[in-house]
Amino acid sequence: MAALAKHGKTRQIHHGMSETHKGPAIVWFREDLRLDDNPALAAALKCGGGIVALYILDEQSEGLRPLGGAARWWLHKSLEALSDALLERGARLILRRGKSTETLLDVVNRSGATQVHWNRRYSPGGIACDTATKQVLTDCGITAVSHPGNLLIEPWEMKTGSGGPYKVFTPFWKAVRERGWRTEPFAAPQFPACTAEGMESDSLDGWGLLPTAPEPDWAREFPDLWQPGEAGARERLKAFLSDGIGGYARLRDRPDRENTSRLSPHLRFGEISPQMIACAVSQARDSGDVSERDADKFLAEVGWREFSHHLLYHFPDLPKENLQAKFDGFPWRNDDEGLKAWQQGMTGYPIVDAGMRELWRHGTMHNRVRMIAASFLIKDLMIHWRAGEAWFWETLVDADHANNAASWQWVAGSGADAAPFFRIFNPVLQGEKHDPDGDYVRKFVPELGRLPAKYIHRPWDAPDDILSDAGVKPGQTYPERIVDHAYARNRALAVFKALNNGK
Ligand SMILES: Cc1cc2nc3c(=O)[nH]c(=O)nc-3n(C[C@H](O)[C@H](O)[C@H](O)COP(=O)(O)OP(=O)(O)OC[C@H]3O[C@@H](n4cnc5c(N)ncnc54)[C@H](O)[C@@H]3O)c2cc1C
Repeated sequence: MAALAKHGKTRQIHHGMSETHKGPAIVWFREDLRLDDNPALAAALKCGGGIVALYILDEQSEGLRPLGGAARWWLHKSLEALSDALLERGARLILRRGKSTETLLDVVNRSGATQVHWNRRYSPGGIACDTATKQVLTDCGITAVSHPGNLLIEPWEMKTGSGGPYKVFTPFWKAVRERGWRTEPFAAPQFPACTAEGMESDSLDGWGLLPTAPEPDWAREFPDLWQPGEAGARERLKAFLSDGIGGYARLRDRPDRENTSRLSPHLRFGEISPQMIACAVSQARDSGDVSERDADKFLAEVGWREFSHHLLYHFPDLPKENLQAKFDGFPWRNDDEGLKAWQQGMTGYPIVDAGMRELWRHGTMHNRVRMIAASFLIKDLMIHWRAGEAWFWETLVDADHANNAASWQWVAGSGADAAPFFRIFNPVLQGEKHDPDGDYVRKFVPELGRLPAKYIHRPWDAPDDILSDAGVKPGQTYPERIVDHAYARNRALAVFKALNNGK
């Protein structure tokens, strides 16, 4: 702290400025990589002294979880897009790497900024970093203002009748809807003629966010699938509203269809605000373009995102600790081979393998299949949900502090409003129900591609001549099942029963 206070003095000596000098305002971008509907940016621009647009790659501050590989790819592309969008408005994005507080102070010092604005983040590490940074800036006489920019409702604004945090989704979402949220977006800001002139910036390429290993480049299909950045987010929303949301309530569980929005990475990096999405969907509903049922179901999923952030804020150990302490005694298995087979999509269960391969190739996985694959890891293999959470963190482009942890605990049964542990997904029946023609499996497990739909989710039941016609050799072209589901289900249930009986 003493060293940082010294920084403050240096700043004054450096600029020789009085407290009332109107310097530029720094807008510190983090998980809000957009210009539209961005309260921090709007506030910084309003100050009238010009802005310094800053992104800090902070892999050093304690408690900040480094991004996984897929999210690093996204971040690189999204920063490129943000930088281009700023340049179009005559502003530069300054890139700096280092500890947030020190780096910010350095930029304050060099730019003569008198204010710093940012939109809040809600992970425990993010909150700790921001709280400390705010204190240091304030001690140095800099105005530091945090804004609500990434959620419909700030987590501390929602309390149950007894004053505690909500732990059940339905009443939470009902209360949020009754309360309502901001419906007027922050207007696209007018930029001053010139900002951050002459400031030093790192080169984005120099940050090494794009994958180099393992070979071959695992992200090679990402650009065909994703357009990171604000423009891409807007296009995705538009496309979803015109051709996707119709039938969402009925078809959102079908991984073989394109009836979900694929907005999650855009939301994760704040390239679009939940308000913008909610307003567009509500408008489409009110004008009759989208049915009430589809609109409400979709908004409720955005509500699950809110709920997950609400949980993370109130239970900051969510990514590490069981929310229900009784799971602390669960006898998880150490099974490196099983974990590897799951990660590589080689479990012998086609729907699980398709999902895990989709994840690797595309950096995403359909929500229904995420649930099936997670259930398989936790309940069939009895491997700790934390191992699954960590793999998803590494491989998802939408890897999110709140959604990932809350969803893993939801599947494990250890979370808030979670699926009960005894509800164990049957990967064959789930596959047959949600991918009835096997198209999703065929896409990601091509070695089963010529099997008829009747056997594609259970190749072990196929007669020899059908296997042979389809070119499938069990154990050679496609793995045998690594565990028998019926056996695994009974094993998990027995362990859970013992846990409940306190054995
Ligand atoms: C084990 C597991 C891990 C998950 N990890 C993540 C993660 O790291 N990041 C992430 O964004 N989502 C995660 N989810 C939630 C969900 O699978 C994805 O948000 C969804 O698949 C994204 O696709 P979409 O944008 O097409 O969703 P849509 O169906 O179009 O939903 C719209 C938006 O609502 C939000 N949403 C939807 N479902 C959920 C949910 N169950 N929980 C929280 N928010 C939701 C997302 O922001 C999504 O973009 C996880 C789910 C499971 C079962």
